[in-house]
Amino acid sequence: MPTRSIFGAQWGDEGKGKIIDLLAREADYVVRYQGGPNAGHTVVVNGNKFILRLVPSGILHPGKVNVIGNGVAVDPLSLFGEVKELTERGVTVDPRCLRVSAGAHVIFEHHKKIDALSERWRGAGRIGTTGRGIGPCYADKAARTGLRVADLLEPARLRARLTAVLVEKNALIESVHREAPFDLEQSLAQYSQVAERLAPFVADTGSEVRHAWKQGKSILFEGAQGAMLDIDHGTYPYVTSSNTGTAGIGTGAGFPPTQVERVLGVAKAYCTRVGEGPFPSEDKEKDGDTIREVGREFGSVTGRPRRCGWLDLVALRYALDLNGATGLVLTNLDVLSVFDQIPVCVAYDVPGQKGPVSEYPAHLPDIEGVRPRYERMPGWRVDIGAARRYGDLPKATRDYVEWVEERIGVPIELLSVGPERDAVIPRTA
Ligand code: GDP
Repeated sequence: MPTRSIFGAQWGDEGKGKIIDLLAREADYVVRYQGGPNAGHTVVVNGNKFILRLVPSGILHPGKVNVIGNGVAVDPLSLFGEVKELTERGVTVDPRCLRVSAGAHVIFEHHKKIDALSERWRGAGRIGTTGRGIGPCYADKAARTGLRVADLLEPARLRARLTAVLVEKNALIESVHREAPFDLEQSLAQYSQVAERLAPFVADTGSEVRHAWKQGKSILFEGAQGAMLDIDHGTYPYVTSSNTGTAGIGTGAGFPPTQVERVLGVAKAYCTRVGEGPFPSEDKEKDGDTIREVGREFGSVTGRPRRCGWLDLVALRYALDLNGATGLVLTNLDVLSVFDQIPVCVAYDVPGQKGPVSEYPAHLPDIEGVRPRYERMPGWRVDIGAARRYGDLPKATRDYVEWVEERIGVPIELLSVGPERDAVIPRTA
């Protein structure tokens, strides 16, 4: 199998978990390179629902090496919570199948506290963070005050760095937010304990993955969140704190992105978004509610209702272009079966500009004011959940898929018609 990357081509929650799970069967290594424990991929295996937060989806396949790369924000407490849940459900998680980069930054309790506190202060300007400390952890990484996994493993270093860090964090928590500070000795005890458990999993993962690749092993890079939430290229500031696609692989996994041969975007046949920020094709009326109900569009970790709307080809083309996608996986096609007509956003009207715009606007103020232009495709109004071959799909569904494909400029390689592992249809001619 060639080296592959899978990324979210919308605002996250595109159903990547299932597709990664599917392709993980053919991979030797499954590598996460960005994001933190809010990722929440959902994989349904034999009717059992697994929600993976930090552990790569390859864990559900015995014999794979799953890597948490240096670009991931690691909350060791949450990680071991996840490991416990998986183990209790019969999934093996040991140092042979899970490797954690020594260079990954650690999310501490104070990061989570600060995350929640600063969101409260932002009021109307809140960005809709999940409060898991990921943003503050990446902020410390950039400020060079963060602690990496390797720092946890050396008691003297851990004490020295955490002492220095907590002085500043506690001053912020006490003086600005008027909340109780963290106790250094308690934090040290907590993280020394978790460090001992973590130690056998820790490795120079970048070097390991490069070596494996040189020996002909197949590598799958697992993206979290989505292209439109990329910190540089998404709808800043309503974004996540990392590079969510191809660009994140070099920095977050220590693997040359030039050697990634296949880049697959994953997009729903409609759009959803969690939290604040522009969403041009959002449907705040009845149809949006229908999508939410039929597609069960509630956050897998947070339970928050997702904002719902129609497929946005302007944003999708941008996401595919930006990441050098070689193909697309179109998921949740079954959800559209309830509609007589399916609107698809094909262009925007931008205030102050003449005529429709088909290029994604670069700046947030421009995006906030845009109005979507829709074309309406005929619906198919039959249940397609049992289809397993392209030819099983009604003509109207195939017409919809081919119509989208013509407009995005890359082949649609796979279609997904249900949450189950096998509800995937290879796109044939
Ligand atoms: P991820 O973060 O991109 O992996 O997305 P999620 O794990 O949040 O997946 C979105 C939800 O859609 C999950 O509950 C999946 O089980 C479900 N799902 C995935 N593919 C399909 C599909 O083709 N149809 C339907 N109806 N649900 C799907």
